[in-house]
Amino acid sequence: MPEINYDAYEIVVGLEVHAQLLTSTKLFCGDSAAFGDPPNTQVSPVTLGYPGALPRLNKKAVEYAIRMGLACKCEIERNNYFARKNYFYPDLPKGYQISQHTTPICKGGRVTIRTTEGQRDVQLNRIHLEEDAGKSLHDVDPLFTAIDLNRAGVPLIEIVTEPDIRSSEEAFAYLTELRKMLRYLEVCDGNMEEGSMRCDANVSVRLKGETRLGTKVEVKNLNSIRNVRRAIDFEAKRLIGLVAEGLPVQQETRSFDANNGTTFSLRTKEEANDYRYFADPDLPPFEVSDAFLASIQASIPPMPEELVGRYTTELRLSEYDARVICDDKETVRYFESLITHMPNYKAAANWLLGPVKSSLNEQGLDWKNFPVPPEALARLIQLVEEGRVSFSIAAERIFPELVREPSRQPLDIAVALNLIQSSDTAEISAWIEQALAGMPDKVTEYRKGKKGLIGLFVGEVKKLSRGKADPKLTNQLLLEKLENQA
Ligand code: ADP
Ligand code: MG
Repeated sequence: MPEINYDAYEIVVGLEVHAQLLTSTKLFCGDSAAFGDPPNTQVSPVTLGYPGALPRLNKKAVEYAIRMGLACKCEIERNNYFARKNYFYPDLPKGYQISQHTTPICKGGRVTIRTTEGQRDVQLNRIHLEEDAGKSLHDVDPLFTAIDLNRAGVPLIEIVTEPDIRSSEEAFAYLTELRKMLRYLEVCDGNMEEGSMRCDANVSVRLKGETRLGTKVEVKNLNSIRNVRRAIDFEAKRLIGLVAEGLPVQQETRSFDANNGTTFSLRTKEEANDYRYFADPDLPPFEVSDAFLASIQASIPPMPEELVGRYTTELRLSEYDARVICDDKETVRYFESLITHMPNYKAAANWLLGPVKSSLNEQGLDWKNFPVPPEALARLIQLVEEGRVSFSIAAERIFPELVREPSRQPLDIAVALNLIQSSDTAEISAWIEQALAGMPDKVTEYRKGKKGLIGLFVGEVKKLSRGKADPKLTNQLLLEKLENQA
C-alpha cells in the first residue's frame, strides 16, 4: 500500500464548550448551585420537575453570559426566549432541558489565539444559555447507577466555534485562552477535571484546497485541554487514513480513552436524537435592555491581551514577563498591588516570576493562600535595590523567613540573621586577604595575565562573607590589591 501523505490534508475542528456559571443559585430556581454538597440536597420541586412547579429566570446568569459575549465581541441578542430540548435520560427529571434554540443570547464573535504560527482570531458561532443535567454515578454501588440531581438546573453557557480551527495546537491555544477569559471575567472557574468546563471536539479532514467540509465526528469525554489535543491528533490521523484509502467517514459520536489516547464509537448519526424544540410556555420571553447591557459593559475588567499591551508599553516589561504575569488574574492582582508600593516594575516582575512562583510551587500554594502581603515583599525588594542585601541573600535567606513569619519586617529579619551587606572596607579587605591567601597559585597566574580569574576571587570572597560583602566594593578592592602589590 502506498504511504499516506498526511501533508496533503487539512484538519478542520469546531469546539463546543460548556462552562458552568459561578452563580450562587440555579438557572431557574433558588437551589444552591454549589459543587460538592451531599447528593440530592439541592433539589426543589423545580429541579425535580414536579408538575405545577414553575421556573423563574436567574438574572445573574444572563449577566454572566453577556459578560463573556461582550469579551468575545459577540452581538448580543436583545429579544430572547427559552426552548425545551426534549429527550429522555435518567439524569433529566423533566424529560427536557431548557436551552436556547433560535435566539442564542450571543451571536458571532471571536477569540484571539497565539500559536507558533502567530496570532489569529477563531470565529465563534454563538454562546447560548442552558441548564445542566444531573449526574449519573456509576461507581457508588456495585449493581445500580445512582443519580445526583444537585447539578440539574445549574446554569451553563455553551460556547460554539465555527469549523475554523485548523490543528490540535490551535485547539489547545483556543481552550487555554477561553479558560483564561472565563476566569478573568469570574463567570466560570474553568476547572476541566471537576467538569465545570467541558469540551466536545468536532473533527473532519479534507484535501488541502477543497472548500467543502468533510464529514465530521464528534469526540466527547475530554477532561483536560491536553486530552483535547491528543484526541484531535488521534482522530485526524484516523480520518486521513480512511479518506486516503477511499473509505467513507461515518458521522458519529465517539469517546476518548485517556489511558491509551484513542477514541471509540458511541453512536452513529442514525441513532441521533430528534429534540422537538419548542418555546417553553412556562417562561416568558425576556428582553435585554440598553441600561442592563451598559451596566455589564462597564463592569468588564481589562482582559489579558489588553493588560499585556499595557505592561509592555507603560511599564516596559518584556513581552514574556507580561504574558506570564497575565496568565492568571491572581498574579495580576498581586503584581498590581506590589507596584503601588515600589517603583521598579522590572524588579517586581522578576520577584514574582522567580522566588515567589518557586515558593508557591514548592509548597503547593496558590495566590489566595500566599501569606506575604505585597507591601512586605516590596520592602524586601527595596532592601536589594538599596544595596543593603544582595539578591541571592534576599531570595534564599530572608524571603523564606518572611514566608514563615509574614508579619515580620524584612529589615528586622536581615538584621537578626546578620545579613546586612557590608560596605565596610576593612571588613571586606580582611575577607579578600583570606581568600587570596587560600590560593596563591591562582594569584600568581592572575598577575601573569590570566585576568579572567577575577571572577573566582570575587566568588571566594562572596563565599567567605556568606554573601554579605558588597560586590562592587569587593571588585574594586580586589583590583587594587592585585594590581598594586605585584
Ligand atoms: P450538530 O448539529 O451536529 O451539533 P453543528 O452544525 O451545530 O452540528 O456544529 C457543532 C459543532 O461542530 C460546531 O462547533 C461546528 O463548528 C462544528 N462542525 C460542524 N461541521 C463540521 C465539520 N465538517 N468539521 C469540523 N467541525 C464541524
Ligand atoms: Mg453538537
